[in-house]
Amino acid sequence: MPEGPKYAYFQGKIVPIEEAKISVMTHALNYGTGAFGGIRAYWNDEDEQLYIFRPLDHFQRLLNSGRLLLMDLPYTPESMLEILLELLRKENYRTNVYIRPLIYKSSTGIGVRLHDLDADFTMFALPFGSYIPNEEGSKVTFSSWRRIDDNTIPARGKITGAYANSALIKTDAALAGFDEALVLNEDGHIAEGSAENFFIIRNGQAITPPIYSNILEGITRRTVIQLLCDEIGIPVVERQIDRTEVFLADEAFFCGTGVQIVAIAEVDHRPVGTGKLGPVVSRLRQLYFDTVRGKIPRYKEWCVPVYPA
Ligand code: PMP
Repeated sequence: MPEGPKYAYFQGKIVPIEEAKISVMTHALNYGTGAFGGIRAYWNDEDEQLYIFRPLDHFQRLLNSGRLLLMDLPYTPESMLEILLELLRKENYRTNVYIRPLIYKSSTGIGVRLHDLDADFTMFALPFGSYIPNEEGSKVTFSSWRRIDDNTIPARGKITGAYANSALIKTDAALAGFDEALVLNEDGHIAEGSAENFFIIRNGQAITPPIYSNILEGITRRTVIQLLCDEIGIPVVERQIDRTEVFLADEAFFCGTGVQIVAIAEVDHRPVGTGKLGPVVSRLRQLYFDTVRGKIPRYKEWCVPVYPA
């Protein structure tokens, strides 16, 4: 395992990671009143550069989650990016890294609520590889758990407490021998995976659940929609997907910052399409990895360089 992190941004400054500690009485630890992000930065060997992928979009979504939780934070996406650049330069990483920003109710004491509480922002970054082992052919099951509803805990916010739902989904799938799970809404349609968005390819169309299907508004999802439409030339339709439609799909995949693009080989022991990596997902994976490493001039504006040129 590569080393790191050595530092964290904590209580307004960058400190050694051992000093970034909170009290057991912290509100967010007791009640799940935090929100987090997951950002990747990719090392490009040719450019000798570390590129952060779409950080402003991630920080904007994080601050939006904070709004859902009534957090008043003295940060903007731009000021969070400045802190991230300083942190990554201090770590001096020359490898792929995963960045974890976290905003949380930092007051101590008892009482479930959102109002009249302080909030704080912390962030760290560590070297990181794959999230799912079988990226070119994962084995997936339908979870018996349902996705949290917008009227329960909004899935569009990356709220820490809501991730108990994802943890239930992921662990049942993993302990049953699957790589991941698909999770249905209360209405029985597909929402997403435990921590990633979902697409099928069927009859020359890419289909993905809409943002009102209790999904996280994924930034990779947004990227993939653009790559499918503009680069691969496949129309993308956002609509509800029935469970059995997955069994008839030509290809299917998960996408997210952590998982990147993961092909789905089978769902509940039924092969998806040929059961092998299909042409669209294969092409998309290639395009995505070139995009995030700043290799496609058209999308270079999404990639923020860490080190001076
Ligand atoms: N859905 C859920 C529930 C997630 O946790 C994630 C990971 N952040 C995603 C989708 C993918 O989102 P993104 O592409 O912004 O990382």
